Amino acid sequence: MSNAVVVVTGAGRGIGECVARSLAKEGAKVVLSGRTVSALEGVRDAIEADGGTALVRPTDVMDPESIAGLFDDTEKAFGKLDVLVNNAGIATQTNMVDMDEAEWDRIFNTNVRGLFLSSREAGRRFRDAGAGRAINIASVFGLVGRPGFSAYCASKGAVINFTRSVAAEWARFGAQMNAVAPGYIATDINAEMRADEAAYKKVLRGIPAYRMGTPEELANVVTYLALNAPDFLTGQTIAVDGGESSV
Ligand code: NDP
Repeated sequence: MSNAVVVVTGAGRGIGECVARSLAKEGAKVVLSGRTVSALEGVRDAIEADGGTALVRPTDVMDPESIAGLFDDTEKAFGKLDVLVNNAGIATQTNMVDMDEAEWDRIFNTNVRGLFLSSREAGRRFRDAGAGRAINIASVFGLVGRPGFSAYCASKGAVINFTRSVAAEWARFGAQMNAVAPGYIATDINAEMRADEAAYKKVLRGIPAYRMGTPEELANVVTYLALNAPDFLTGQTIAVDGGESSV
């Protein structure tokens, strides 16, 4: 599906940036959304320097109006929507008994409510078009439990079961939804942990491959699901985790 029009949430850095650049390399027109405009502009410039097409659209996935505008602007600019990559997400580490409601709500509003709001906008367009794909960035932490991460694990578990349910709804009108569940991928989200040698080694001991993944390894799988996977593949979650969820 070259020339596909793709919206990537959280495209200014980390996994989202890498996914956006990978899709653009395959000929997709990429709408870069997120809150930090300077970061999005940097990604756009890199894509354009490589001969690709990208549009910057500031968006906060916690704000329904901002999300509605993102999809309206995408259609205005490119005339259609083919793929949504729900990547924007946050993580915090706090023991459940010490967590306040604001932290819980921030995680769920970003990782789950934001996913719902974006998917609803995209899904209405996919229903009208009779085609379309969404790929959700879940996490291995949605497949297993981890102390200190109850809110994040619960939110990513929700992403995985949302994916199954919506895939079953969308299959009736010819659209697909799948998820990827990354294990540890070296990005800003875990920079603090990696700076602590003891914590880093402890994490590596839990990964059979004994290393973290790269954003490129994940972007390859997302790009396949977005542009090349068969329509019959839907509702699935593919772990890209060096074996972490297999032990
Ligand atoms: P980063 O922290 O590097 O990037 C997160 C991205 O999400 C940023 O671009 C950020 O942009 C955006 N974002 C956060 N909140 C919002 C918001 N309210 N509205 C719009 N955009 C937002 O993390 P990663 O690249 O590592 O993470 C990407 C996804 O992958 C997340 O869903 C994460 O949970 C998941 N993941 C990551 C793993 C890892 O080890 N790296 C492992 C498993 C899953 P800005 O702040 O500018 O808005």
